[in-house]
Amino acid sequence: MLLQGQKGYICTDCIYTAADYLKQMGVPNPGAYEDEEQKGPGIDKDKGLQLLRPKEINDFLDQYVIGQERAKKLLSVAVYNHYKRIKYNESHQGTGKKGSKRLREISDVEGVEIEKSNILLVGPTGTGKTLLARTIARLLNVPFAIVDATVLTEAGYVGEDVENILTRLLQDADYDVAMAEKGIVFVDEIDKIARKGDNPSITRDVSGEGVQQAMLKLLEGTVVNVPPKGGRKHPEQAMVPVNTKDILFICGGAFEGIEKIIGQRLNTQVIGFGAQKIRDNIDTDNLLKYIAPQDLRSYGLIPEIIGRLPIIATLVSLDRQAMLDILTKPKNAIIKQFDKIFELDGIKLVIDDKVLDLIVDTAIRHKLGARGLRSICEAIMTDAMYEAPTSSRKEFRVTLDYAKKHLTTITGEALS
Ligand code: ADP
Repeated sequence: MLLQGQKGYICTDCIYTAADYLKQMGVPNPGAYEDEEQKGPGIDKDKGLQLLRPKEINDFLDQYVIGQERAKKLLSVAVYNHYKRIKYNESHQGTGKKGSKRLREISDVEGVEIEKSNILLVGPTGTGKTLLARTIARLLNVPFAIVDATVLTEAGYVGEDVENILTRLLQDADYDVAMAEKGIVFVDEIDKIARKGDNPSITRDVSGEGVQQAMLKLLEGTVVNVPPKGGRKHPEQAMVPVNTKDILFICGGAFEGIEKIIGQRLNTQVIGFGAQKIRDNIDTDNLLKYIAPQDLRSYGLIPEIIGRLPIIATLVSLDRQAMLDILTKPKNAIIKQFDKIFELDGIKLVIDDKVLDLIVDTAIRHKLGARGLRSICEAIMTDAMYEAPTSSRKEFRVTLDYAKKHLTTITGEALS
């Protein structure tokens, strides 16, 4: 069979030969990359859970995430409370010795059980939602898994997929169930499982709602039988029971169009004497920051899910300066990574400031957001990385002309 590409044809035999060749060369297939991205960075079991205070968490986040101050603060407090709650509940359950003296004192107040507060991150795509969740998991040394809510919608048997979320967490915990039960799960694109239409009586769109119901159980806390290797349930496969009561769920979504709902609510709420003044004070360019649970309900999330996501943090779009900072400032900033790659070959990399402007402007023009920065850098640097290891140069300088020349090849446009 022949497959048609943009400039020619390739036969299936050649595809298989090429695939074999890539395998021999040790190049992972794109699916493998995806899988890796879904998993957390792995945990250091000897280190155990690192319980840090909100300010310490925030300081750590500052090293990796640019801007998003409000979200960082909310998240730091929420995560601190979450793990404090776990320790408190442990000591409350009569073990007595666990937890600090203060926690044991609190636990004497009978009948108080602190409930879990999962988190909802709302903001445009590519603004750092996943990065925040991943960074926190790494800091606390807890297992971490990312799941895309849209995948849950596609599968017919919702229950199957929901369990697979926990499979990933188990894998990241190296099958240590107790560790997995204190992990963090990031559920991306939660907005995509919203029920379409505002009228609760119209429940035709059962797929979205069905998934929400299945998710609800996990968010609330339940014991789930997890297939340790993932995939469909198999009668002979031994299941691992995992309790989700102490797993922190961080949900993320862009909630495109929700500003309109927020705007309408604010407009109708603000009536009567002084209304105009309040209206004038509303920051209409950033309506997202006024988001309230009722807006999520209007958007199509069921009230029970909203009730299980009591902490709502919003993220703002990244402006030009933020994108520039992302290139150079975070601890593992893209440019720092390139510096290192060249340094390993004994070459000093010098990139002109104008090149950084070009990278950011290209990402903005092509609406790629922060996510596009890396691929643009790769396009500029590929030839240099190819030649550098065999050259005798001690310094490689990337000028604006050099960058433009190499970028033209991927964008196909003349850069003036
Ligand atoms: P989303 O909000 O869609 O989850 P991500 O967190 O996946 O976005 O961001 C994609 C990439 O863009 C990140 O891996 C990171 O390199 C970069 N990025 C996005 N936002 C920020 C930020 N605020 N600070 C630093 N890097 C960021």
